[in-house]
Amino acid sequence: MNQATSTATAIRNASARSAPSARPLLQVTDLKKHFPIYKGLFSQISGHVYAVDGVSFELRRGETLGLVGESGCGKSTVGRTVLKLLEPTAGRIALDGEDITDLDAHAMLPYRQRLQMIYQDPYASLNPRMTAGEIVGEPLVIHGVGDTANERLARVASLFSRVGLRPDQLHNYPHEFSGGQRQRIGIARALALSPEIIVGDEPVSALDVSIQAQIINLLMDLQDELGLTYLFIAHDLAVVEHISHRVAVMYLGRIVELTDKSSLFRYPLHPYTEALLSAVPTAKSGARTRKRVILKGDVPSPIRPPSGCHFHTRCPYAHRRCQVEAPALREVTGGHLAACHLHDGGPKVPLAKPADAA
Ligand code: SF4
Repeated sequence: MNQATSTATAIRNASARSAPSARPLLQVTDLKKHFPIYKGLFSQISGHVYAVDGVSFELRRGETLGLVGESGCGKSTVGRTVLKLLEPTAGRIALDGEDITDLDAHAMLPYRQRLQMIYQDPYASLNPRMTAGEIVGEPLVIHGVGDTANERLARVASLFSRVGLRPDQLHNYPHEFSGGQRQRIGIARALALSPEIIVGDEPVSALDVSIQAQIINLLMDLQDELGLTYLFIAHDLAVVEHISHRVAVMYLGRIVELTDKSSLFRYPLHPYTEALLSAVPTAKSGARTRKRVILKGDVPSPIRPPSGCHFHTRCPYAHRRCQVEAPALREVTGGHLAACHLHDGGPKVPLAKPADAA
């Protein structure tokens, strides 16, 4: 059994989860993040890295939206920009209807409590000079939560128990914990301020397979108990399929497909999604037998993305129009969005190049 399959089978049954609300908690509209490239003695701007280039989606209260794509596609930048850890170049971010796009660090403070992050590398994200208890309690001190040190300590001890750590480990340093335990510290820290939204940036990919399952189970339990909303960034499709309610697929800074997970895994409408899924073993009954799609070439540079559809240099169904016209992300069938010219006359499943296309 390969790693992805064994992870998915070890984690808890996702069908028993509560359904998310239809009401959007976070709305992201045409979000862009372009990083300038500086060159020469006077540090002139010689170009840009188009890391995120017009991304729109919404997070519904209580749901998990999986954000997948190859390394370098911009998914982590989306997560950091949505949390305002990076300033957006353009676009709009609204939390519960309130526009937070242009708020400075001070004005963001009250919103910061509602938006938290879990990082990929639990070791690198924890200060080695602080005890685990200090790390988890730090957000409480910064935001002035709790009247006394004892009150904060009680809150930290309760968070430790909630994430599966022992209160007697409060005084241990990060190097005294295993990888899975360190990620539990990261989760406890993210929970300290009782957030509504947590962005998980590849939160299990640095962990052993057996530990991945424990952490995913913990995240799903916490979502049910606390009504959390997750943006779950990952490249492992088996993990994303298990934890997510809906999935967005990114390629070179843009979302190319977005729908509920069952539609995405059964009937991918974008050639890139089809290629990604073709590399995942289909162990589930009812899953269509997938032909293996081998993409040609490497992912193009986000400094000079291809014209038209960014995917046309690797797409097996590319035709002339794809080189000059970027397809918009639009609804192809009920709630299933894709950015591909193949579906202009209605959904085309299985995918096929238009007969009259050059
Ligand atoms: Fe492929 Fe063209 Fe569709 Fe882009 S628009 S994914 S190049 S068929």
